[in-house]
Amino acid sequence: MSQKFKPSTLCVQAGWTPKKGEPRVLPIYQSTTFKYDTSEQMARLFDLEDSGYFYTRLQNPTNDAVAAKIAALEGGVAAMLTSSGQAANFYAIFNICQSGDHFVSSSAIYGGTFNLFAVTMKKLGIEVTFIAPDATEEEIAAAFRPNTKALFGETVSNPSLEVLDIEKFARVAHANGVPLIIDNTFPTPINCRPFEWGADIVIHSTTKYMDGHATCVGGVIVDSGNFDWDVHAEKFPGLCTPDESYHGLTYTKAFGKLAFITKATAQLMRDLGSIQSPQNAFLLNIGLETLHLRMPRHCQNALKVAQFLEKDERVAWVNYCDLPGNKYHDLAKKYMPNGSCGVISFGLKGGREESIKFMDSLKLIAIVTHVADARTCVLHPASHTHRQLSDEQLMEAGVRPDLIRLSVGIEDVDDIIADITQALNA
Ligand SMILES: *Cc1c(COP(=O)(O)O)cnc(C)c1O
Repeated sequence: MSQKFKPSTLCVQAGWTPKKGEPRVLPIYQSTTFKYDTSEQMARLFDLEDSGYFYTRLQNPTNDAVAAKIAALEGGVAAMLTSSGQAANFYAIFNICQSGDHFVSSSAIYGGTFNLFAVTMKKLGIEVTFIAPDATEEEIAAAFRPNTKALFGETVSNPSLEVLDIEKFARVAHANGVPLIIDNTFPTPINCRPFEWGADIVIHSTTKYMDGHATCVGGVIVDSGNFDWDVHAEKFPGLCTPDESYHGLTYTKAFGKLAFITKATAQLMRDLGSIQSPQNAFLLNIGLETLHLRMPRHCQNALKVAQFLEKDERVAWVNYCDLPGNKYHDLAKKYMPNGSCGVISFGLKGGREESIKFMDSLKLIAIVTHVADARTCVLHPASHTHRQLSDEQLMEAGVRPDLIRLSVGIEDVDDIIADITQALNA
């Protein structure tokens, strides 16, 4: 199914087109392995000379159908599902960086990704330099080194809700001969398609809005097919020179625009094995079938809640990029004209203590370590995810001690606001 269909149609139907007599619904291929008639047929698969399924650690038809749907939604050429968003970010970087390499990342990113980049990748010999999302082109360029292989950022950062100027980041990446990798988890392709603004690779934690019902942890990497690795072959030997683990095959020569995803599948999945289970891919697909209906509702509800909070005198501040007056409003309108996402943050005048009291008084809205599903939920990072940090360290990390992260769901907004009102009164 090609891009001639609109996103809503792709959400419902892309990736699985049954032939005569086949199941209407994408089946779960609950099989580790696949059958062949001759030894020769199987050998050709192992040499990447034929395409086909042989072992689910490398590829599975359910997973491939869901990956194809997400690739179509983002406008990419190919995609690969992973077991989590963390695995997707790790593979996206590790597919082009090896020990001794370096990459540049916006500092406004998910805490788990920050730790992966700053601590775990460093142990593998891969270094990162963080730059502010608001850095000028000159400041971003100044972070580049001869061994820099990628630039990374989040469209809307979790939890600080800063909006990335994707075009600016793409210009700096391309001027330095490296791809721009974007984590597009919060807006989803319904609200923003980073490839249209120059990004080369997009990743998602599908755990969030794509699944949308908080049933499965998962991730995906999508390649636009636009970055010409061979023009910068000296930077990307893993893609542009022979792979000895596949009898000297060169990914860019053998697979053209599919080189990046083929290498991630054939090499990283083969060796590291963070696959998404076909069961989870099946559930993710059902979530994707209503993504285009849920996202506008999340945004409408979040805007109404943000406007309500802004007017309440007990609220010290509200951060939501769709609010006029927000620092990132102009960027949000440019990249996400139909709304950004359902996540907002705010603080109460009483500070940290009042925030905790408020959360404990909520009845409909639940305290959970999650964002971006159908049910409205809250988290107080200073008491939970960032608990070890002092108030000073919290401010450095861009997380105010009084910050309440509210993930607005798709319930009736009047009921959400009523619950917030009774908790503020309590
Ligand atoms: C949750 C999240 C991740 C990590 O994804 P998991 O599926 O939890 O591994 C990465 N990036 C962003 C923006 C996230 O919100």
